[in-house]
Amino acid sequence: MSLKLKGVAAASGIAVAPLVHFHGDLAFIPTRSLAAEEVAAERRRLEEAIESAADAILVLSRDLAAELTRQDIRIYDAQLALLHDKTLQQELFRTIEQDRVNSEVAIQQVVARYETVFERMEDVALRERAADLRDVGRQVLSVLLERERKSFVAEGQDYVFAAEEFLPSDAGTIDRKHLRGIVTARGGKYSHGAILARSLGIPAVVAVDELLQRIRSGTRVVVDGESGVVIGDPDDEEVERYRHLAHEQAEAERRVFEVRYLSSRTPDGAVVRLLANVESTRDLSSLERDITDGIGLFRTEFAFMERHQFPTEEEQVALYRKAIEWADGKTVTFRTLDVGGDKPLRYFKTPDERNPVLGWRGLRISLDLPDLFYTQIRALLRASAGGHARILLPMVTAVDEVARCRAVVDEIKRDLAQAGEPHDPDIELGAMIEVPAIAHVLDQVMPLCDFASVGTNDLVQYMLACDRDNPRIAHMYTPYHPAVIRLLAHIAEVVGRSGKPVSICGEIAGDHYFTSLLLGLGFRELSMAPVFLPRVKLMVRTFPIDECERLAKEALGMANSRDVRALARDLAKTGWSRFLEHGQS
Ligand code: PEP
Ligand code: MG
Repeated sequence: MSLKLKGVAAASGIAVAPLVHFHGDLAFIPTRSLAAEEVAAERRRLEEAIESAADAILVLSRDLAAELTRQDIRIYDAQLALLHDKTLQQELFRTIEQDRVNSEVAIQQVVARYETVFERMEDVALRERAADLRDVGRQVLSVLLERERKSFVAEGQDYVFAAEEFLPSDAGTIDRKHLRGIVTARGGKYSHGAILARSLGIPAVVAVDELLQRIRSGTRVVVDGESGVVIGDPDDEEVERYRHLAHEQAEAERRVFEVRYLSSRTPDGAVVRLLANVESTRDLSSLERDITDGIGLFRTEFAFMERHQFPTEEEQVALYRKAIEWADGKTVTFRTLDVGGDKPLRYFKTPDERNPVLGWRGLRISLDLPDLFYTQIRALLRASAGGHARILLPMVTAVDEVARCRAVVDEIKRDLAQAGEPHDPDIELGAMIEVPAIAHVLDQVMPLCDFASVGTNDLVQYMLACDRDNPRIAHMYTPYHPAVIRLLAHIAEVVGRSGKPVSICGEIAGDHYFTSLLLGLGFRELSMAPVFLPRVKLMVRTFPIDECERLAKEALGMANSRDVRALARDLAKTGWSRFLEHGQS
């Protein structure tokens, strides 16, 4: 019998493939009760996993030997000792035998028990052991789960990723070539995992309650990224129907794709700049420069997240230069480090916070750690010679933060000039408008900025007091909220008066339902994941500005998100079907 689960549609498209559980955390693991005759094999499975995890720790510590002090290398020795601790191992085996549970569950239970003991200890060093234990547990678990995954999906076979969340680091570690769909139990349409799924062009459904408990690893599923439905064990008829739908969609996409080389102007001649959001220079290798006006958002934190330690100034210069060279004179907007919140750095432990999204993140970290910030700004300035780079500041909350950043940029420019180092002396500095407070003091902020960029993903989260990652309130998180539309109109008007450019770089810039509304509100620069450029361009080319303005005016008078969405969506749909029926000259 097939099982239909409803979630939030996060990235369009349809996938049919076996679903495979992926887990990065001790909290989310598959549970299995063992028959008596399975116990011995399970014990062996765990023994082997412990040995593989120990080998991996040994290899890692050897790799790091040249970079770490002897003292620090002992951390790994301590982890090895923990892994080989007889009492701990006995307790794990006893749990498997007595509770008849699989190794993953045994690890979770034993680690939790020991953690409580360690954490109660007075001695700080002993309390630290709790973290080591968690880490060691996680490593054994990854070995176990990796094997489990392999048994469900042979190498080179298509699969659907399933986990509690799709984390930014997952994108770097999984086999992307055969990834056909993403389904997660948590997250929302605007969480970073969903953003990545869209930019990878992979159908995704998020916020599927009890996903991992209800659909086992290895089960064939349909992922419908259009309606937000996941079907476990579909019958042949359902599979056939979805395959047909997928084929039709692919055909429509192919035709829309053709639009990408046409000019980005409305039928009455208004020029709309369309830029790309990228996470790394890897994204640039598959992006055709000719179809964009440049990079509107380079999320530099991803380069930091992929490493084992902070990149040096030289490494950063090389990275930024690569992007500037790719752009060949077009704009490249580098956003300074935006870690914290849901984007942690594994080598830089930030304190536990009750509300990380309202906590120490983005520019707040950069301003508190001058070495880090100076290094990044110096690297950006050095790379800026000979191109058109812009610096964008994330999470700006107060006017004086921009003033402080400008002072840093000026100081480094002076140093570079004195040292005769080439750089762009006129590099533009811009603020992200993603904390609502800053949108209300734009008349004070804009004199300090050369441009602004609206990060609607966070702006909506903060305006509506709605966590962008929380599935329970995912339906409440909506950029169509009338308050958001009104604030966008205000931003376009105030920044417009300053005569400086303003773009939108949040996800709505790539949502073709939104395009005409944004043009009608006054925006002329949109930055999005590259996959959306053709669709958005199609919308730009379809509706004249006065029609967009009428739409915006009507939306501004509406009281409910639902109505605004229906209005924008209906217009977009007419454009879309007109194109599919008659094509476009
Ligand atoms: C945003 O908040 O809209 C944005 C573009 O930044 P991020 O999604 O990386 O937080
Ligand atoms: Mg943001």
